[in-house]
Amino acid sequence: MEGWETVIGLEVHAELATATKLFSGARNEFGGDPNTHIDPVSLGLPGSLPVLNEKAVELAIRVGLALNCRVQPSEFARKNYFYPDMPKNFQTSQYDEPIAFDGYMDVEVDGETFRVEIERAHMEEDTGKSTHVGGATGRIHGADYSLVDYNRAGIPLIEIVTRPILGAGEKAPAVARAYVQQLRDLIVALGVSEARMDQGNLRADVNLSLSPKGSGVLGTRTETKNVNSFRSVERAVRFEMQRHAAILDAGGAIFQETRHWHEDTGITTSGRPKSDADDYRYFPEPDLVPVAPSREWVEELRGTLPENPVERRARLQEAWGFTDLEMRDVVAAGVVEAIEETVAEGAAPQAARKWWL
Ligand code: ADP
Ligand code: MG
Repeated sequence: MEGWETVIGLEVHAELATATKLFSGARNEFGGDPNTHIDPVSLGLPGSLPVLNEKAVELAIRVGLALNCRVQPSEFARKNYFYPDMPKNFQTSQYDEPIAFDGYMDVEVDGETFRVEIERAHMEEDTGKSTHVGGATGRIHGADYSLVDYNRAGIPLIEIVTRPILGAGEKAPAVARAYVQQLRDLIVALGVSEARMDQGNLRADVNLSLSPKGSGVLGTRTETKNVNSFRSVERAVRFEMQRHAAILDAGGAIFQETRHWHEDTGITTSGRPKSDADDYRYFPEPDLVPVAPSREWVEELRGTLPENPVERRARLQEAWGFTDLEMRDVVAAGVVEAIEETVAEGAAPQAARKWWL
């Protein structure tokens, strides 16, 4: 990696835990028999019209505030593209006027704090899910037929997009992992999503490019889609760093494209060419009015934010007198709350730690 500066950008999608979908009364629930949580809006039937879910807006605002973003009046837009699991042939999303923008999250890596800048957090609807049957890989190529389940279509998502992250150096894989992990903790603490990566409630896309050190010019990026565990985020960044460096060192050029992540082999393979936003022909959604949350509402929601999970951990560690290693084990084992409750009942912190571990 000598001579190269790694630049990463992370896009995280989280499904918001509302009772119903973003634009209709169909149930927002994981699983269920295929095509049972649907209605005319989820299916994009002619004449059906969207009605915005107020709860989804509330949850999105709380995420934005927790990420130190500015919350502003926003607008929905149509992002036009074709997917069989998106029956309207456009995704209702937000584009140039997202609900929250310009924030940051401080991420801790090996005791060092790293500031990740958030470009924006916007609301959008999820797509349905295709299952390709008969091929070897589970992908559409070579499949005999495909099944489409629209239960997921229209589930509210928040997409959180970072600015390009520079200066992480060889820690880029660890920073990417820590960011996604801490973002998940924050989302769980906010109670806005179950944020289970194994159920696809939380999905991460990893953008990466290399630029010659000190040049200040961004290189061509690749976007590895749907990297669905913390460890995979770290591995995908490391793999792409090395792949880019090998190509560039050999005098080759990086092609702007999406890449598939292979969990089993730890490599990425070519997906589709990815151009910039103009190809989506975004335009304002004519069937929805702009979303203009009042100042009072935003301030009321700010009052509901929980203690930041990183600060909370630091506070508890200090109160309990745990070493960094002890605290790390306790967090990894998911017993922080249990220890907190046991200590509140009068147990000694070290005794509670040993018992729960
Ligand atoms: P797209 O529609 O292509 O997904 P987004 O704006 O949603 O575009 O996300 C692009 C992500 O890639 C952002 O996190 C951004 O910071 C990051 N990014 C942009 N340019 C580069 C680059 N040259 N190298 C690495 N990451 C980049
Ligand atoms: Mg994106």
